[in-house]
Amino acid sequence: MYYIDAHTHLLDLSIASLKEMSLHNIRGVISPVHLGAFKPVSKDTIIDVWDVQLEKQLGRAKQNFIDAWAMIGISMVSTPRDGVEELLALLPSYLARPEVVAVGEVGFEPGSRTNADPAYQQMLLERQVDIVRDAGVTIDIHVPNPMDRKVEATKRSLEICRERGLDMSKVVIDHCTEANIDLVLEAGAYAAISVQPWRVMNPENTADLLLKKKSDRVFVDSDSSDLISDPLAVAKVAFALKARGADDAFIDACCCTNCMAAYGIRQFPAMG
Ligand SMILES: [Zn+2]
Repeated sequence: MYYIDAHTHLLDLSIASLKEMSLHNIRGVISPVHLGAFKPVSKDTIIDVWDVQLEKQLGRAKQNFIDAWAMIGISMVSTPRDGVEELLALLPSYLARPEVVAVGEVGFEPGSRTNADPAYQQMLLERQVDIVRDAGVTIDIHVPNPMDRKVEATKRSLEICRERGLDMSKVVIDHCTEANIDLVLEAGAYAAISVQPWRVMNPENTADLLLKKKSDRVFVDSDSSDLISDPLAVAKVAFALKARGADDAFIDACCCTNCMAAYGIRQFPAMG
């Protein structure tokens, strides 16, 4: 059985980590653009980040026999100091590429060092929801810690998607926990669980939550960087599920096929 890590930051993963992931059957990744900036960046920097993701980072995964898809977008933690309209106008041409499956990750993050104004973050989210709706792709929405903020951002993000007429089957709320997962599932969206102890999720309690929800709209990811996350998290969830007696079909759903459905991925593994 092969797994997909539904949210990993390729830029932050070493060749050694990618090889380990491949050896542990994590043979697919979806990677959002990422630049944890400390001040607003120029629009050209954002375009360079998009291009590096497509031209270099996906290839680093593929060299390790890992199929890789990208999420492209204007992140709330690396907001532009200029040219936001130009970026929004350019985004659909990136979404048209077959290796791009979503806009992401976007949403509300009070800890953003580039622009923490909730009104600005809401504008960015709304505009990108409109683009996603028109392009027919998926959107991956980040929701922050701590839990009260996570719940509030989940409600607001789902409301925005609903108000703007986006089909809920095209919405992934990421970094879900027990605190917000029911809100997401009741709305008809997908819930992704990032297995990161500082987001209160480890392989064991993730497996417990998956078994409790038994939903075909939940899947897992590592939100990985070598610095703060475990690149093998998805394989460890699969192991914890097996240890709890889950059957292979359920493990496959949580660690692979539910994510494929959310992101419209038809063929996996593509490389055999
Ligand atoms: Zn995130």
